[in-house]
Amino acid sequence: MTQWLSGAWDDPVERAHRVIAAALRAAYAWTVREQRRDAMREVARMTGVVMEAHGPGRGPTTPLDLVACLRQRLGLLPALADGEDETIAQVVLLDRDDRLTADAYDLASEYALAVGGLPESEQWMPAWTRMRADQIRGETFNTLIQSNGQENYVESRRFLIEHPAGSLAELRDLISETGIRPPHRGYADIPADHLHHSAGGARWWWPCPVCHWPMGVAGTTVRCRYRPHAAVYQLTESSKPASRPVLRRVDEGRPHLARPVARTAADARCLSFGIWRFVVVPGVSELRIKKSLEELGAAVELWPRRDRYDLHVYAGGREFRIDVKEYRSPHRLIADLRAKQPTARVLLPKTHEHQLGTLEAVLPSLQVTTETKFCTEVRRALRTI
Ligand SMILES: [Zn+2]
Repeated sequence: MTQWLSGAWDDPVERAHRVIAAALRAAYAWTVREQRRDAMREVARMTGVVMEAHGPGRGPTTPLDLVACLRQRLGLLPALADGEDETIAQVVLLDRDDRLTADAYDLASEYALAVGGLPESEQWMPAWTRMRADQIRGETFNTLIQSNGQENYVESRRFLIEHPAGSLAELRDLISETGIRPPHRGYADIPADHLHHSAGGARWWWPCPVCHWPMGVAGTTVRCRYRPHAAVYQLTESSKPASRPVLRRVDEGRPHLARPVARTAADARCLSFGIWRFVVVPGVSELRIKKSLEELGAAVELWPRRDRYDLHVYAGGREFRIDVKEYRSPHRLIADLRAKQPTARVLLPKTHEHQLGTLEAVLPSLQVTTETKFCTEVRRALRTI
């Protein structure tokens, strides 16, 4: 208990972070309380963490008080009330039906932290609700690095990004063809809230047109859990029994995305949410940026020296070291950049270029660019040959 009361743990920013992490764990546990015996004990344990962070007389004091807070904006919790992180303060973790909200998956997942939950809950609580993003990445990459050699490491990591889901037979064939070693607990069943059940009993899933991981399904709305992959679809059941339900695009975003086709969930597998969210999602941008730089005429090396940084770019006799940073929360990005200095220039992908001004203002000595600016710089370097 004393570890929370001294040193860095007493910092108000750390305290707020602990409260968000405990709230996320409690929210997840609440959603599975009918299936998991320890779920209510986990909510009670997280209530203790929240009470300790707040101190006497402030914030929720019983598990049900805490659950009531999870149905409201996190900013109403005293530990967050005066904080600077307005993005997370607006987030609500449980919806009216007590399901996790889109923001819980998309944004709050970046705040997960080990906050001393029940050891038993590690069996059923997903890594993304209890581990920091860099721990999930580290655990995944350790398996890949063990499979010897830089080339093999790059191939294995690329495989995960390009094949985050599929039928078991398809994945088995691809794995044996390429000889890669998937991470421990790598591919598992598709989570229930990413499946559609047809009236006839068949179950279906749809790969996101950007990252190819199963999109979330809420009623008849189908969309990727990662909001910057912005396409939103409505599903329509076919009038013929046992035929595939069909998706219709309902947002007004980029029109050229291919419409995903329903795939049967029988025998389908996907990477865990944590690996998808913190390895596949940024990886998709890294591979896309690599491709567009190569189309300009540059040569690009991926994750050099076993991931010291993301891209080593050769263009017109010049070399650039690039670290792609794709965080939904600018606050979390800044905290992580402060905690660990990047070994290369930070690049914000197209979907995150709006964070440039904030980064430059808060971290004036940081070397940072955007995908658009960097492409211009590479184009210029290539012209000077
Ligand atoms: Zn996606």
